[in-house]
Amino acid sequence: MTKGNGEDPKNGSRMERFHQGVRKRTLLAKKKVQSITKDDVKSYLLRNAFVLFTVVAVILGVILGFSLRSYKMSYREVKYFSFPGELLMRMLQMLVLPLIVSSLVTGIAALDSKASGKMGVRAVVYYMSTTIIAVLIGIIIVVIIHPGKGTKENMHREGKIVQVTAADAFLDLIRYAPLGILFLIAGKIVEMEDMGVIGGQLAMYTVTVIIGLLIHAIIVLPLLYFLITRKNPWVFIGGLIQALVTALGTSSSSATLPVTFKCLEEINGVDKRVTRFVLPVGATINMDGTALYEALAAIFIAQVNNFDLNFGQIITISITATAASIGAAGIPQAGLVTMVIVLTSVGLPTDDITLIIAVDWFLDRLRTTTNVLGDSIGAGIVEHLSRHELKNRDAEMGNSVIEENEMKKPYQLISQENESEKPLDSETKM
Ligand code: ASP
Repeated sequence: MTKGNGEDPKNGSRMERFHQGVRKRTLLAKKKVQSITKDDVKSYLLRNAFVLFTVVAVILGVILGFSLRSYKMSYREVKYFSFPGELLMRMLQMLVLPLIVSSLVTGIAALDSKASGKMGVRAVVYYMSTTIIAVLIGIIIVVIIHPGKGTKENMHREGKIVQVTAADAFLDLIRYAPLGILFLIAGKIVEMEDMGVIGGQLAMYTVTVIIGLLIHAIIVLPLLYFLITRKNPWVFIGGLIQALVTALGTSSSSATLPVTFKCLEEINGVDKRVTRFVLPVGATINMDGTALYEALAAIFIAQVNNFDLNFGQIITISITATAASIGAAGIPQAGLVTMVIVLTSVGLPTDDITLIIAVDWFLDRLRTTTNVLGDSIGAGIVEHLSRHELKNRDAEMGNSVIEENEMKKPYQLISQENESEKPLDSETKM
């Protein structure tokens, strides 16, 4: 039935109810948005409390370290002061070996041989290409900036040996417990040589390494991630902050591994089959920051020695820097040790490593952070490239679960039939 104006009364009331519904929902949504903002902030802060705490610890560590420098602590006092930091280091290191072994075993076991083979090839291609890019950036930057102008005669050399005492043995006893990045950083700053000894060349060298690492970490790696996955790299990197800060604090990509796993799996939601397969290998062999630094430092040492490198020697440096970064362990200042390979390959004096030791503790932190970022972005890229295999594997696993259930069905039916045929005790009794 229609009204005089041609409107169906049923339809009219329906429309009215519809509009009322929309208005109600809009109001509710508005209210929700208002309350969510508060809750959101709260839960965001709670969720990220640990990350915030780590970042604050770094900042406090830097402040504390610089303010304590005026007290001129003895070497031994500094060691006692940085002890809580050392505890954290030891605890993380303690986790590394079992973590690497167990995650590799579970990672490979969760994949079939074809999928793990493909994933392995992708990871190695990524590792090799990013390492070579890093080496090239290092070479180009150090040749352009040329921090090694002048002679090495006015440069400071460093190296000291301190005796072990009974107190060291006591501290060794209680090295099981975790404490803080704060003390790791503050201790290092207190211990740091006087800034005055870091002369012009070394300061320029430090700036050159920082620029190189920044280009790789802020431009190359995020761009690569974006080009391959078409996802926002900054969201991905945002989820890694805790791992990056831990790398900065510990100077060890191996010690950071437990935190890297946590960030990738729990915050960025990267498939565990990928992280467990590629991360342990990546943390051991994929060190973009170290590769960049090794090539750059070798050319810097050539520059301060007024040693002209020909094209062949630069290629040799690229190859040996790549190899040296693969060979370097994920522990503090390992890159400084494998530098010997790079220097000897082109006939540079290995003694000159002492020229750069003064700033290496700091640069090591930055290259370790770049190493961890490279490994993590690698895991994200490998996951994206392997998504089909992972899905197929999921489907297979799903099928096998269904098949298993199907297999169980007849038995279930039979047993159900038996159950229904079986007279109940109470019935028989009745
Ligand atoms: N400390 C670095 C790392 O653990 C290695 C290096 O010395 O370059 O990744």
